[in-house]
Amino acid sequence: MNRNEILSSLKENPKVSVLIIGAGINGIGTFRDLALNGVDVLLVDRGDFCSGASAASSHMAHGGIRYLENGEFRLVREAVQERNLMIQNAPHIVSPLPTTVPMFKYFSGLFNAPLKFMGWLDKPSERGSVIIKLGLMMYDAYTGKTRTVPRHKFFSRAESLRRWNQLNPDVANTATYYDGLISNPERLALELVLDAEADNPNAHALNYVSMVGGGQDSIVLRDELTDETYEVNPDLVINAAGPWIDFANYNLGLSTRYVGGTKGSHIVVDNPELRAAIGGSEFFFENKDGRIVLIFPLHDRVLIGTSDIKIENPDEARCTDEEIEYFLGLVERVFPSIKVTPEQIVFRFTGVRPLGSSGAKTTGQYSRDHHIEVLSGDWTNLHFPVYSLVGGKWTSFRAFSEQVTDKVLDFLGKPRQKTTRDLPIGGGRGFSTKCR
Ligand SMILES: Cc1cc2nc3c(=O)[nH]c(=O)nc-3n(C[C@H](O)[C@H](O)[C@H](O)COP(=O)(O)OP(=O)(O)OC[C@H]3O[C@@H](n4cnc5c(N)ncnc54)[C@H](O)[C@@H]3O)c2cc1C
Repeated sequence: MNRNEILSSLKENPKVSVLIIGAGINGIGTFRDLALNGVDVLLVDRGDFCSGASAASSHMAHGGIRYLENGEFRLVREAVQERNLMIQNAPHIVSPLPTTVPMFKYFSGLFNAPLKFMGWLDKPSERGSVIIKLGLMMYDAYTGKTRTVPRHKFFSRAESLRRWNQLNPDVANTATYYDGLISNPERLALELVLDAEADNPNAHALNYVSMVGGGQDSIVLRDELTDETYEVNPDLVINAAGPWIDFANYNLGLSTRYVGGTKGSHIVVDNPELRAAIGGSEFFFENKDGRIVLIFPLHDRVLIGTSDIKIENPDEARCTDEEIEYFLGLVERVFPSIKVTPEQIVFRFTGVRPLGSSGAKTTGQYSRDHHIEVLSGDWTNLHFPVYSLVGGKWTSFRAFSEQVTDKVLDFLGKPRQKTTRDLPIGGGRGFSTKCR
């Protein structure tokens, strides 16, 4: 069915088992899993598919090595396994990414890591070679048997400068480990939508349709192209509105404070010298103040990011001139002989991470993990439960969607028929990695 046909059918039959609000990667991943398991499901987004936080990512399928320092071992284990599965199931879009960490000190951060882990240190700080070596050994161990990427390697100063001859000569040494590069996240998201619709004739996705309100048994949707409104009667609602989750709950008459989002910006620069200097490797490092920075090979351009700034209203997020100045200064620290100018910026973008609200003093310590918040019962004034999907990374979307789907199937009293674990996505079916 096309968009108009889906909307007309809602007028005739407003009943739907599951309504998902928000077609970012978490809403889309859950849509696919529910569709595969025979649930009739409607997915709506007020904008384009994959246009919120999911369009603002750093393009990494990664375990998040630095989350080890915050003690988020469960998350790192899950994300490393999911990174491996993304490389396996979507090889046409996700490929192994050599990630190089330049280190300027040997012992820095050695005592900070345990202090942070115990919650006794809030200040971000630069990590030296020893602490990074320990982190990478743990990271490799999490990869386990499903090894889709090689183990990390450490390089001496001389070897590092031989490999990357424009690197800052003050470097102490470098380490290269592997994560995944998601070359085109939006395309991957669209392929998930198409796979779901192809598998289940009762799974429908609509973009430019907003959830604008709710009554006891119904949800009001508005077609943003015509302003026409539609009422649907779901058995269950999934609020996958990412950084807008609390706003969406408010539209349903529910007062929540689940998300404490942080803004992250990136710039894309057209600087062939910098692009040649990094080769096929992402450079991932810490600034002197301990903040994480990446210089990333994105096709023939270079992606530079990212910031991590607390923000109340996601609609106000912008990539500012101050952030740009900060990014350009960072490149200079690692590749001092390469000049990157503001005129070489071809694109800037920003997004808000839908992190769970946190009392931590620095944004770097906010948990990157995900969970489901359930609202149901008389006090909600709604006759259906609302599951809010809080947090979640691009990398772990499949696992998070699986957890949500299991909970929904349990609520609907349906058994799981299929798993997405080893299921190829879109053009990943029958794809030969020789084509890369
Ligand atoms: C700067 C940055 C860098 C990141 N880098 C990485 C990375 O490299 N790797 C990684 O794994 N993760 C990364 N992440 C995290 C990851 O991108 C996000 O956690 C994930 O995309 C969140 O997806 P989501 O579906 O929950 O939210 P979103 O993608 O924001 O989707 C929510 C959707 O809800 C819609 N919506 C809101 N209100 C309504 C309404 N009332 N009606 C209908 N629709 C509505 C919005 O339009 C939006 O499309 C990054 C995030 C950011 C911000």
